[in-house]
Amino acid sequence: MPRPILATVSVPAMQHNLELIASRLQEEASKAGRVPPRIWAVIKANAYGHGLEPAMAGFAAADGLAMLDIAEAVACRERGWQKPLMLLEGFFEPEDLDVLDAHRVAVSVHGEHQLCMLESAPVPRNPITVYMKINTGMHRLGFPPAAVDSAWRRLVALQQKGVVGELGTMMHFSRADDDVVVTQQQLSRFIQLAGDKSGPMSICNSAATLTPGLWADLPADRGQWVRPGICLYGASPFADRSAATLGLRPVMTLEAKIIAVQDCQPGSSVGYGHLFTAEKPTRVGVVACGYADGYPRIAATGTPVTVNGRSTILLGRVSMDMLAVDLTPLPDAGVGSRVVLWGDGGPSVDDVARAAGTVGYELLCALAPRVPRHVEVRCEAMALGGVA
Ligand SMILES: *Cc1c(COP(=O)(O)O)cnc(C)c1O
Repeated sequence: MPRPILATVSVPAMQHNLELIASRLQEEASKAGRVPPRIWAVIKANAYGHGLEPAMAGFAAADGLAMLDIAEAVACRERGWQKPLMLLEGFFEPEDLDVLDAHRVAVSVHGEHQLCMLESAPVPRNPITVYMKINTGMHRLGFPPAAVDSAWRRLVALQQKGVVGELGTMMHFSRADDDVVVTQQQLSRFIQLAGDKSGPMSICNSAATLTPGLWADLPADRGQWVRPGICLYGASPFADRSAATLGLRPVMTLEAKIIAVQDCQPGSSVGYGHLFTAEKPTRVGVVACGYADGYPRIAATGTPVTVNGRSTILLGRVSMDMLAVDLTPLPDAGVGSRVVLWGDGGPSVDDVARAAGTVGYELLCALAPRVPRHVEVRCEAMALGGVA
């Protein structure tokens, strides 16, 4: 028997979340009397830790897939993805251009070095789709406002030469999750800088996609792509709105079993550093999940967890391979009981992340390779059935 820990990835939940986003956009579009934006489902970082293959199945209805790694883009083509693919950081080396050509992969172009590589490249068989990225205030990737017009002229020249095919513009919001004023400033700057260019525009991550009105402020005749990531995996991009409130379903469920029980008398302490000391008789369940599985070590006593479908809390410090939970309120639970660390039937990954001072994104991406995975294609019973 392998160690009793399992991550289940639900393809139906991915489909549900994508449909939810698409129908919200559709509704907003029909109110505004315009066509909805197309959707790039963002699958960077191994689909936020969920795996490329389930993501391709779950997001088959998306208009395209966006990622960072050229190898991930090639893997999608080799597994039969026919629709657009987009590299959000663009290319890194002149040799990458052949791969973009061969596999018809679109790129963001955000810096001078990339323009130079395109200018010295031979004319490809398939002109490369390019989104010129503008830095509207995040100061991460993108041409600064003063460099935008000259970069655009060089891209238009590359288009005339046949190196660049379709040409559009893009940007990224730094505070779409928490600050409408900054977000509006970035949006205005983008409209000012990209409004007189041509081709499709792409501005929205999950938080911006879920903020009504943002994308609809862009010119209606240009065509648009939104780029949701985290919401498609059933986690919330907002600190103050849960995924459940947004109608999203968790895609990853991390579960394990109780492998030992300790009856602690008042004054006994649990785990490394003795961070938890029992004040009353306490039944402690030891769970086969630790930080080497991707559970955050910094999560403290009180972090929510579910045992046999009932809520309880983490006790003491998370070890490499185990963590402790309070079974005092759950007398029926014991060795073999099913523990949901996050996901369907447990706390949300965002709740656990909050207790660890981080965001759901980080926990999902950090699921360790040693955790066995089960991809749920249809709704079915969990593979690690709980023993009461
Ligand atoms: C990761 C990423 C996204 C998706 O962000 P979410 O917050 O997960 O929706 C969109 N655009 C770019 C450029 C990204 O890097």
